Amino acid sequence: MSQTKTELLQGNLYINGEWVSEEKQTYFESINPATQELVGTCAAATASQVDAAVNAASTAYNHWKNTSIPERAAFLTKSASLFEDRKEELAQVMTKEMGKPLTESIGEVGVVIATAQYMAGEGRRLFGEIVPAGFPDRDIKMVREPLGVAACITPWNFPVSLASYKMFAALIAGNTVVWKPASEVALSAKIFMEVLHAAGLPKGTINLLTGSGRIVGQRLATHSEVKIISFTGSTEVGQQLAEMSSKTLKRISLELGGKNAVIVLKDADLDKAAEGIVKSAFTTTGQRCTAASRVIVDRSVKEELLKKVIALTEEMKIGNGLEQGVVIGPLVNEQQCRLVEDYVQKAVEEGGNIALGGCALSELGACYYMPTIIDNVHSNHTIAQEEIFGPVLAFIEVNGYEEAMSVNNGTMYGLSTSIYTSSLHYASRAAKDAVSGLVYINNGTSNAEMGVAFGGMKMSGNGHREVSHHAFDVMTEWKSVYTNY
Ligand code: NAP
Repeated sequence: MSQTKTELLQGNLYINGEWVSEEKQTYFESINPATQELVGTCAAATASQVDAAVNAASTAYNHWKNTSIPERAAFLTKSASLFEDRKEELAQVMTKEMGKPLTESIGEVGVVIATAQYMAGEGRRLFGEIVPAGFPDRDIKMVREPLGVAACITPWNFPVSLASYKMFAALIAGNTVVWKPASEVALSAKIFMEVLHAAGLPKGTINLLTGSGRIVGQRLATHSEVKIISFTGSTEVGQQLAEMSSKTLKRISLELGGKNAVIVLKDADLDKAAEGIVKSAFTTTGQRCTAASRVIVDRSVKEELLKKVIALTEEMKIGNGLEQGVVIGPLVNEQQCRLVEDYVQKAVEEGGNIALGGCALSELGACYYMPTIIDNVHSNHTIAQEEIFGPVLAFIEVNGYEEAMSVNNGTMYGLSTSIYTSSLHYASRAAKDAVSGLVYINNGTSNAEMGVAFGGMKMSGNGHREVSHHAFDVMTEWKSVYTNY
């Protein structure tokens, strides 16, 4: 598949309603992990361009916060229909930039559309409270107010849906936005922004800064005019941002990493469990915050389950995500592929047995790694504790529910837990006992629905939630108004 020069994309910065670049602007490359071809180049924002974007958002805030909610909602509704028009094009660029199969990318644009529609509706339900007064001739009301400029910083694995969770909640609540997407998917971000521009959002209301996380992200985190940081990414960077942003006392919402498990008890439907495990572990090439990376299985059914999981995994077609029928694409870049290699090697050194895979697929390209299943893993092994973010699944044997739940809860993360069982008793107990923001019973670890709070416990987040109206706990603050009459 060759690419002519004219097909290359170029992304500039979107500040104050215009696509801008400086005379000496530097550009970074976006490389297709499936083919190593250049997808295009994108502007690397400087610190002064970060300031310009924040100033534009800050100025626009005065107007936007006083725009009626139905008017704000109308922009989101319009953008939903414009995203529909550019769905295929945006999905193609996402797949080229980060490798996931085109069907997954198309599904992701569908999530953006659903989020725009959902948040447009939620605007009408930004209710306040009336509080009984302690004195006669007095009314007291509490109202939700926007905070100002929200900086949204997002990762590459879901290039546009995660941005839509943050940005549409911020916008409908009356905040203005500066968005810093991951560098790997900067051109997908450009198309996303073109759609919002076409929807006619007032200038400065939304701004796009591509470029280094270190430069752009840090400047946003320390800027006094940024009132909210809404971050999705690794726990390590989330911790750094929390520290940096603390000096200006800005609000910070963190959606971070995970070490998610599927527990399989001996009374489970093993066919359904195997199906859920394979889907959760290997879609998006295991590069999901909610990907299953541990199977915690009752010893009595381990062999049978392992066979079923291997058989289903072997059916998955690996290749370029643009090709029909491919369900597992490459990893996002070579560095991620090497990281996976290192983890697998360490797993073997620590006593794990490779039951499937365990090698790069260099005949397909530099970023391909075979879906890998490692048996005989113990809960204290590195592979059972650290987030890998790749197609690697560890099998851990246990004796019964109590041990399974203790292993499940024995990592620093707490994002998603799944349990397969036909016992109402153990299903109900798991819903209580799992220290996870998300619990799935007889379903894999990775399945979020619109309107349901999404987020993690422990080091998977800092207690905030997205994808539902609970996002307004981040994007608004309460004002109490006393009226004596
Ligand atoms: P990452 O390295 O933490 O990067 C995330 C974003 O932060 C990118 O835009 C990145 O910019 C920026 N960044 C990097 N270093 C920064 C710094 N020092 N200061 C400020 N910003 C900085 O994460 P990733 O590799 O893109 O994504 C994978 C991680 O995201 C995994 O840990 C995964 O579990 C997590 N994740 C969590 C959720 C959830 O909802 N809980 C969802 C998806 C992913 P550059 O690209 O320019 O470096």
